[in-house]
Amino acid sequence: MTKTRIIALFNQSGGVAKTTLTQNLGYHLALKKRRVLLVDMDPQGSLTTFMGLEPDTLSESIQQAIVENKPLPIYPELIHGMALVPADINLAASEMQLFSAIAREYRLKNALAVVKDDYDFILIDSPPSLGLLSILSLTAATHILVPIQCQFKSFKGTELLLNTVSQVRAHTNPTLQFAGFVPTMFDSRTAQESRTVKAIQEQLSDIGTVYPPIPKTIAFADASEHRLPLALFDKNHNAISVVKKIANSLDKLEVKS
Ligand code: ADP
Ligand code: MG
Repeated sequence: MTKTRIIALFNQSGGVAKTTLTQNLGYHLALKKRRVLLVDMDPQGSLTTFMGLEPDTLSESIQQAIVENKPLPIYPELIHGMALVPADINLAASEMQLFSAIAREYRLKNALAVVKDDYDFILIDSPPSLGLLSILSLTAATHILVPIQCQFKSFKGTELLLNTVSQVRAHTNPTLQFAGFVPTMFDSRTAQESRTVKAIQEQLSDIGTVYPPIPKTIAFADASEHRLPLALFDKNHNAISVVKKIANSLDKLEVKS
């Protein structure tokens, strides 16, 4: 049996499609009959919202699991075939609450250890920062998947990101592997964006797989507004085949022991 692939979607920049990809990749893995758990680690609760829940009305969120060591609050029903651990704004306080906690970096890893055998994939939606919640996510993960916006300025931030991954490997998670890089919001009509995709391929393919770029389209925002993965919102949309291709690649990942 393949071990559970725990994939952190991580980039310290906001608005690069981490949450959108978490939901849509999870959906295509679930369509392949994989058991999928999505974990919202962003206090903004965007993933929770995209999945149709109201963060403000939750009785439990990931915060209690990582701060109070309570069992992971998995939402009682599957949503579009996926299980979800929701987040709400209380999670924002957890960095402070864990300030002096012993082995705090391992809080998410330990919480997931109890349930991980129930899933083939656990996808963690990380917050847009290099703070403790991101470190918790990267420490819990077997793999990191990095969405990068196809603009020169976003590409520049990857140096900082690679440095963070080195730090995590050195201190809390030596077997963390790259699932790869996903160029996102690609507008093929813009010469600068085509150059950026080429630069991403040239400079990062030694580190991890560079997947085909996800086209820029308002359909992702429209689908989220309707609380749906794109494939359920507009089943013939041309961006779906790219997401599916990436999900198929994730399905072939192996876990280092
Ligand atoms: P992050 O989680 O990295 O902050 P989101 O997934 O919330 O990013 O995406 C940021 C915004 O960009 C959202 O409004 C989302 O609908 C939109 N978006 C995501 N992917 C695409 C895309 N391929 N093309 C255009 N807009 C996109
Ligand atoms: Mg997000």
